[in-house]
Amino acid sequence: MNFIAAIIFSAILVDFILHMTADILNLRMLNNQLPEQFNGWYDEHRYASSQEYLRVNTRFGWLVSIVNLGLFLVLWFGRGFPMLDQWVRGTGHSPVICGILYIGVLFLLKSFISVPFLIYSTFCIEERFGFNKTTGKIFISDLFKQLVLAVLIGGLLLSGVLAFFAYAGPHAWFYCWIVIVVFMAVMQFVVPTWILPLFNKFKPLEPGELKSAIMAYADSIDFSLKNVFIMDGSKRSKKANAFFTGFGRHKRIVLYDTLVKNHTTDELVAVLAHEMGHYKKKHVLWMLLTGVFQTGIMLYLLSFFISSPMLSEAFYITTPSVYTGLVFFSILFAPIDFFMGILMQYLSRKNEYAADRFAVETTPDSASFVSALKKLAVHNLSNLSPHPLYVVLNYSHPPVLERLRAIGKGGRWKVEGGR
Ligand SMILES: [Zn+2]
Repeated sequence: MNFIAAIIFSAILVDFILHMTADILNLRMLNNQLPEQFNGWYDEHRYASSQEYLRVNTRFGWLVSIVNLGLFLVLWFGRGFPMLDQWVRGTGHSPVICGILYIGVLFLLKSFISVPFLIYSTFCIEERFGFNKTTGKIFISDLFKQLVLAVLIGGLLLSGVLAFFAYAGPHAWFYCWIVIVVFMAVMQFVVPTWILPLFNKFKPLEPGELKSAIMAYADSIDFSLKNVFIMDGSKRSKKANAFFTGFGRHKRIVLYDTLVKNHTTDELVAVLAHEMGHYKKKHVLWMLLTGVFQTGIMLYLLSFFISSPMLSEAFYITTPSVYTGLVFFSILFAPIDFFMGILMQYLSRKNEYAADRFAVETTPDSASFVSALKKLAVHNLSNLSPHPLYVVLNYSHPPVLERLRAIGKGGRWKVEGGR
């Protein structure tokens, strides 16, 4: 095992142990005492159910991580990477085609392994807790569509990256960056307009009380909004959500039908106020720019490692190639990605507080936003008492009690508990 291999191996182990520790601490935080803010919102049975949901998911997560880690180590130390490389080279194709074959096989292998877990999670865990609405038919068609999209879009992007690194010389990383940034910008329009409709139906919100209330609110904060869409989230799960996509004239707000069903007009406006807050406070733009910057750093580092013999040797490959370099770099990059991920989630949690504040400040009464937050937490069986380490590692949104506390701290906003 060379130096790089030792670093990668230790990083993988540290990551694994850290996540396990956070999981165990998180489970230990569970207690039967319902936080007082949720008195009257959670009955005893449902609260116990939310804790069981966390326990079941955590244990299942352990099984998934252990299997994935085990298989990866078998592939690595069983000389799987050089074996696959020999087969790919044997086909005699160009480096770009060889790269697509090499990475394609690894991708298919990974997808294949994840399917049984996905089946168990959807049809056993989610079903048991009353969330699942996915039928076998939807499940299979989803998998098929995702695979086709991955092959088409991923394959196209991958061949571009491979070609640049194979033929464009020392500035390849920069050309790649430009192409990927253009791609990211185009996807901002392509995803809501063409890709999401492949999976769900988006119906413009019918004129009525809700639409007028939303439009009036958007007007009041000077947010140009042409349409609000209702998405048939209930096709797959009873969980509720709302989200925001696109920029400029193309921005659209999407409400899950499951959200509309269980909330009052005031609560829905408050939820959308939070979403519009993200846009008004430029979080959406900043997140995209951060992504652009991150990609640049990653590609620049990649240019140093892509043909490194030491990195290839760490995986028992004696003749480095662009595609093996790309795969091994992504493995080496995982620890850096881990720290970047923690930073990004921290920023995301800060933005959530800011969007909450925006919603509370710009809607007539904070009680609607508070009750929407509570209803969502109860409906989605959110964990009310996550461990701080677990939050640092896994949460892109602050825990609901912290959000309620932050809203309460706002002083002039009156917060009412209970119904
Ligand atoms: Zn948010």
